[in-house]
Amino acid sequence: MKDEIGVIPGLAVILVGDRKDSATYVRNKKKACESVGVKSYEVCLPEDSTEEEVLKFISGFNDDPEVHGILVQLPLPSHMNEQNILNAVSIEKDVDGFHPLNIGRLAMRGREPLFVPCTPKGCIELLHRCDIDIKGKQAVVIGRSNIVGMPAALLLLREDATVSIVHSRTKNPEEITSQADIIISAVGQPNMVRGSWIKPGAVIIDVGINPVEDATSPRGYRLVGDVCYEEACKIASAVTPVPGGVGPMTIAMLLSNTLSSAKRMHNFQ
Ligand code: NDP
Repeated sequence: MKDEIGVIPGLAVILVGDRKDSATYVRNKKKACESVGVKSYEVCLPEDSTEEEVLKFISGFNDDPEVHGILVQLPLPSHMNEQNILNAVSIEKDVDGFHPLNIGRLAMRGREPLFVPCTPKGCIELLHRCDIDIKGKQAVVIGRSNIVGMPAALLLLREDATVSIVHSRTKNPEEITSQADIIISAVGQPNMVRGSWIKPGAVIIDVGINPVEDATSPRGYRLVGDVCYEEACKIASAVTPVPGGVGPMTIAMLLSNTLSSAKRMHNFQ
């Protein structure tokens, strides 16, 4: 795009507060932008910023023709209304896919969202790239959050899977997951999905990122998924590792959404 029409895709990231995990995610996103030639615009605001201040930056990026995607790093500090802030991002630049109009279109037959949320999109891309059939398969999504579980279930449905959703009030999760050909787990509970929860030959996508104490690690902790990886490896036909599985896919899909946005805005095929 740069050579042919003089446009560099641009991604704006807004980080509020000093959560270490959020700062790491934002740093990784910036690095990824640099590595593929996407220009990144970063705003870091203190924890005690007001909602109005964040909205002002969003409005500026909405109007900036050099910015094709806007990402507000979640979670926001508790005194801010997440809904107001996400609603303020222009639907044309909603590369995270969290705007209610994008989610609404994702849920409706015959409607196309402008953007699909990055983590669930990355899960489906992994299945596609590994030639895993989704059509007609039993799929179980564990977790129903707005950012992962719910859109992952909607995407699987769009791919013609038969989809069940397990959540914290589900009475018999193991019974349900053990019927599944495909499991996407997005819970945030270390090693919750044991070998006995898995049907032989199933495909497991582990979205969870959970720190657990580890005295042998220099940081004092290590990251594990929702799925007990050692047990899953023995029974599933494919399992994504944590770290290194879905996490990098999320960033790749963010870049992909930013590029699509820039192409759409400049009518570039
Ligand atoms: P949320 O806390 O928003 O949602 C967790 C979901 O899990 C909820 O729907 C909750 O049910 C359900 N749940 C909680 N406990 C249980 C249980 N014991 N049995 C069944 N379901 C349960 O988390 P997120 O969706 O934001 O994130 C989930 C995980 O994915 C986290 O570990 C997070 O760090 C990771 N993540 C990874 C990303 C990546 O790029 N790899 C990106 C985003 C998140 P209920 O609705 O009933 O409360």
